[in-house]
Formats: sequence, C-alpha cells, structure tokens
Amino acid sequence: MKKFFCLMLMILAVCVVGCAQEKTSGDVNQIPTEIAKPATEEPPPEEQPAPQAQPDKDYILANDDLSNLQLDDPTKPVYDKYILWERQEKGLPFELPYLEPYEAESVVYLTFDDGPDDKVTPQILDILKAENVKATFYVCGNMVETYPDVLKRIFNEGHAIGNHSYNHRYDQLYTGPWAFMEQIIQTDNAIRNVIGVRPFIIRAPGGVSHFNSDYWSMVESCGYVEHDWNALTEDATPSQPNASTQVNNVLKYLGDNPPRSVIILMHSNSDKVETVKALPEIIHFLRDWGYKFGVVTPMTPQPW
Ligand SMILES: [Zn+2]
Repeated sequence: MKKFFCLMLMILAVCVVGCAQEKTSGDVNQIPTEIAKPATEEPPPEEQPAPQAQPDKDYILANDDLSNLQLDDPTKPVYDKYILWERQEKGLPFELPYLEPYEAESVVYLTFDDGPDDKVTPQILDILKAENVKATFYVCGNMVETYPDVLKRIFNEGHAIGNHSYNHRYDQLYTGPWAFMEQIIQTDNAIRNVIGVRPFIIRAPGGVSHFNSDYWSMVESCGYVEHDWNALTEDATPSQPNASTQVNNVLKYLGDNPPRSVIILMHSNSDKVETVKALPEIIHFLRDWGYKFGVVTPMTPQPW
C-alpha cells in the first residue's frame, strides 16, 4: 500500500513540475493550482524573499536523510527545508524512520488550532512569552496567507508550527485521502513562503475520527505525523464556555491520575477570547503539577 502511495506521489510530483513548466490544460482538473506553482519559484509579491532555514538555531532542521529526529529535548520544534515534492525530485526519503516516543519526563503540549489571526493569537503569544512557555500552533493555509506576520512571530518566538489543512472544510477534506493531502501540501507551500521551512506535524481538522486506513497510509507514507489530543478546553463547542469552565474542562479530562504526556486542544482564531483568559491558570496548575511544557514533534507520544 505504501509503495502505491509513493508511486502516486511521484506521478503527482512529475505532473506538478510538468504543469508548472508547460501550463498544459490536459490534467489540470486533477492538479491543485497552488501545488502547480512551487513556493520556491514564486516569492509572494510585495514580500521579502522567504528566509533561509538556519540549522539548529531555535529549532531542529531535518537532515536530508531524516536521521536526526530522535531528540533529547521536547521543547525544540522540528522542521524540514524541503517541500515534499522537492524531496521526491531530489531522490531523498520522505517517510520518517521509527522514532522512540519521548517519555523521559512528564510533558504537556499546549496546542492552538485554526489560526493564526491578528487578535487572539498575539494575545496568546504574549502570555506564553510572559510565562516562558513554548506551545504548538496548528495553522490553516488560508490564515497563514492572511496573517503572515503573526506566523513569523510564532516561529521567531520558538513555538512549533503544525499543518491544519488549507481551508478546514470537512466537505472538501474528507472526500478522499488525495483531497486531504492536496490541502496539506498547499499549506506547506504557504508556510514555507513565510518562514522558509515546513512542518512534519499535522492535525486533521476535527481529528482522526475522519480517517480510514487509506488516509493513514497516505499520511504515513508521505512522512507526516498526526497528533490528536487527550484533553481539551472545549473552547470550540457551540456553548462557548467561559474561562473558568474551560479550566475545569481541562481538569476533568486529566482526572485523578493525569497521563505522563498531555496534549491539550485549544483554538486561537479570533472569537476565542475566553481561551486567552483561561490560559494563565491552565499553565499555572500544570506547572504546579510538575509538567514540562513541550512542543509537538514527530517523537511526541500519541495521546491514545
Ligand atoms: Zn480546527
């Protein structure tokens, strides 16, 4: 099955390159426009060129052969300088090697989905900076294109950036694994246009209950790692819980015997003002309980 997906990816990559060079119309309905225009060839207008990746600065940059991703530090983000099809074109591997889950200490991973925006995300970043805490932001490609400066700030302040699809629309994402993967690649392009690197970590909008085995095969064979969560504030539920309810929701999920590795789902799009209010208390009690604050990487233990 994996070989099948690799083969399909090669075909896609060849089609993408061919389409970009020749602009033929034959298979255009099968090839997303955004993928057909590689990020490296089209810096965004009125923007400076994308920054070059800087090895081992505030993050780990994957080796060409992906052999350096078994880390002893759960607080450093991991990125790749290559978009997936570039790895394919250069003959480099893109399926990750087995990584031992990081379980050396109790770690909490604060995660914020659906941003960046220019209202709530900056407030969350202010709190994280004041508390000296790192977190993970699963961003949508269309939001990245709208708020590139906020994405840069997330990156520059040492947080991890994950891929959360381009437009978050279930009716488009879950028509099949290729539709899902097209949005992941589209968002990789958007992210790299801004920060010069792309993530390995993804989160499926709504979680992996939407996946069947074909989605899993696609994700794994393309070298992405999906993480859901094992605690949440429920800040995206229609009832829109206030801050104290959100704190209590996290306590409820953690229970009397909290897991050693905790991934908390929150959101940073513009109506999540109660999440901002709840965040300091959530950080404080987790710190009191002895948790270290990590960022999601390919070695982060799965929450299930
Ligand atoms: Zn989401």
